[in-house]
Amino acid sequence: MKYGEQAVTENSYDSIVVGGGIAGLTSTVYLALAGQKVLLLEKNNELGGLVNTFERDGFHFDAGLRALEDAGIILPLLQELKIDLKVVKSPVSIGIEKDILHIEGIESLGKYCELLKKHYPESGEDIERLKKIILRVMKLMDVLYGVENPLFKDLKNDTRFLFKKLLPWLPRFLITVGKINRMQMPVEEYLKGVIKDSSLRDIISQHFFAKTPAFFALSYFSLYLDYFYPKGGVGKLAEAIRDKILKQGGQIKTGTLITSVVPDEHVIIDSRQNSYTYKNLVWAADLKTLYKIAKAPDLPEKAKAVFDETKASILKHKGGESVVSLFLEIDQPLESFGSISSGHFFYTPSRQGLGDTHHKELQELLRDFDQLSKQDVLAWLDRFISLNTFEISIPGLKDRDLVPPGKTGLIISLLTRYELFEKVQEAAWLDEFESEFQQRMIRVISDSVYPQLKDNVLKAIMFTPLSIQSRIGSSEGAIVGWEFCNEMPVINKIQIADRAVLTPLPSIYQAGQWAYSPAGVPMSILTGKLAANKVIASLSPGILQRLRSRIFKAR
Ligand SMILES: Cc1cc2nc3c(=O)[nH]c(=O)nc-3n(C[C@H](O)[C@H](O)[C@H](O)COP(=O)(O)OP(=O)(O)OC[C@H]3O[C@@H](n4cnc5c(N)ncnc54)[C@H](O)[C@@H]3O)c2cc1C
Repeated sequence: MKYGEQAVTENSYDSIVVGGGIAGLTSTVYLALAGQKVLLLEKNNELGGLVNTFERDGFHFDAGLRALEDAGIILPLLQELKIDLKVVKSPVSIGIEKDILHIEGIESLGKYCELLKKHYPESGEDIERLKKIILRVMKLMDVLYGVENPLFKDLKNDTRFLFKKLLPWLPRFLITVGKINRMQMPVEEYLKGVIKDSSLRDIISQHFFAKTPAFFALSYFSLYLDYFYPKGGVGKLAEAIRDKILKQGGQIKTGTLITSVVPDEHVIIDSRQNSYTYKNLVWAADLKTLYKIAKAPDLPEKAKAVFDETKASILKHKGGESVVSLFLEIDQPLESFGSISSGHFFYTPSRQGLGDTHHKELQELLRDFDQLSKQDVLAWLDRFISLNTFEISIPGLKDRDLVPPGKTGLIISLLTRYELFEKVQEAAWLDEFESEFQQRMIRVISDSVYPQLKDNVLKAIMFTPLSIQSRIGSSEGAIVGWEFCNEMPVINKIQIADRAVLTPLPSIYQAGQWAYSPAGVPMSILTGKLAANKVIASLSPGILQRLRSRIFKAR
C-alpha cells in the first residue's frame, strides 16, 4: 500500500526525511508535530525498515528485531506521542544442550550460573566472578535507564519530573557513564580476564557481534527482563507512528528510492527522476549511500576538508555482522513448543562453543574461497551451525492471533557475515548454499531442542545478508549499523549523542543506526528525535512566525 501519494502535489517542503525505518518515522512525526510541511520518503512499499512484521498464509513473522527493549526511550516516546500501543511481556529462555532456563527475574541470574556450572564444573570460581560482574552491570543499567529519557519529556511544564527525578539522577548518571566507558573493550577480550575456559567464554559471548563492547554484551541479562512485544507484532510500533504522522498532516511517499542528493540546491532526486526541494533534510538510511550519492557541496576550504575527510572515513568503514533468518510455518500446535521454551529463546545445542570457527577459520575460508571445493565450504558450515547459538522467536507464544489455529510460526536466526554469501553468489551456487544452510539449521534444531520440527515444516522462507542489503539498502546487510572496531566513523559516547546527528553537509542531518554506535531501536529513535530537534532549532524567524500564526489560526 502506498501512503499519501495523492497528497504529494507540490515537491517543495520545509523538511524531507529519507528512510522510513524507526529513526525516519521518529524524525518525521516530531517535525509534523512542530507544524512543518514534512515529507517522508521510503524506498520500499512498507514502512518500518528493520522494525517490520509480515504475513504469509496466516502466519505473522517479525522480519527484523523480534521484541523491543524500552531502554527508557520507547515507552516515554509512546507517552509523549499519546500512542496507546498494546504490549505484552516477551519472556526469554536460555538453553544449553538439554537444559533450558526460563528467565523470570533477577534471581534467574543465580540459576543461569548454576546451569553454566553444570556444563563447566571446572569453572565454578570463574562463573561466580562473572556473576558479580553481571550484577554490577545490572546496577549500572538500573541507573542508566533509571529515569525516562529527558528528551521525551516536557521539562518546562513537568517540573515534578525535572526536580524530583531528573536532577537527582544526573550526578549518578555521570558517574555511571564513566564506569561504562571503562567497559568498552571487546567482550571477547574482557572475558579472557575473567574466564579461563575458552568454550565457556564462547557460550557467553558468541551470540553477540564480533567485538561488541563488554558493557553492552554483559548488560543483556537486564535486557532479557525488559523485553516486551506489541500485540500484532513488532511492526505495530512503526504502524502506530505512521498513523500519528498522517494524523498530524505529515506526508509519506513509499516505493521511492532516493538516488541523488544535491546539497547546494537543497534538492534530492528519486530513481524516476522526480525531484524534491527541502529546507532541511534528515537522512535516516544507510550512510555510505548518502556519501556515494551526494554531490560534493560548494563549501569554504576548511568545511570542504571536513566533508572530504568524513566522506572518506564513512566509505572506508564497514557495516557490522548480518543475520540469516529462517521463517518456518509449522504444522504443530503452539503448546508443543511452549512446553519447551518461551517465545524468545537463546539456544546453544553444544557446550563446545564456536572457538575459531566463526573468526579465524571463516577468515581463512573467505581468503582461500576460490581454491576451496563446495565440500570444504559445507564442512565448515556443518561446524558453524552445530556449534553456534540461535535466537529463536515464536510470535504465537506472545500473541496467539499471529498464527492459524493448531499451527506455529517459528523464526530461527544466526549471526553471519555478508562476505560469505557474497563469495558464494560470485561462485554461482547461492541457491544451493542457501538450501544447505536451511537444511542444516532445521536438522540441528530438530536433533536437539524441538524434535517435532523436522517432519512438520509446511513452508520455509529465508532472509540472508544479501536479501537484507537489497531490501533495506543496508551496507553489508548490517543489522545494527557499523561494525564494532576500535575506531568508529560516528559518535559512540552517550554524553555527546547530541552531536551524532550533525553532518558536514549544509542543512542535512543524519539519524538512525548509522548515526551513532552501538545502535539498535532505542538509539535509532533517540537520534531520530535529536535530528528533528536540530531541524526545529534551525528554523528561520520567518518559519517560526508562520508556525505561530498557524497555531493562532487553529485556535
Ligand atoms: C534480526 C534482527 C534482530 C535485531 N535485534 C535487535 C534487538 O534485540 N534490539 C535492538 O535494539 N535492535 C535490534 N535490531 C536492530 C534494529 O532493528 C535496528 O538497529 C533499527 O531498527 C534500525 O532502524 P533505522 O531506522 O536506523 O534503520 P532501518 O530500519 O534500516 O531503516 C532505514 C530505511 O531506509 C530505507 N532506505 C534505505 N535507502 C534508501 C534510499 N536511498 N531511499 C529511500 N529509502 C531508503 C530502507 O528501506 C529502510 O526502510 C535487530 C535487527 C535485526 C534484523
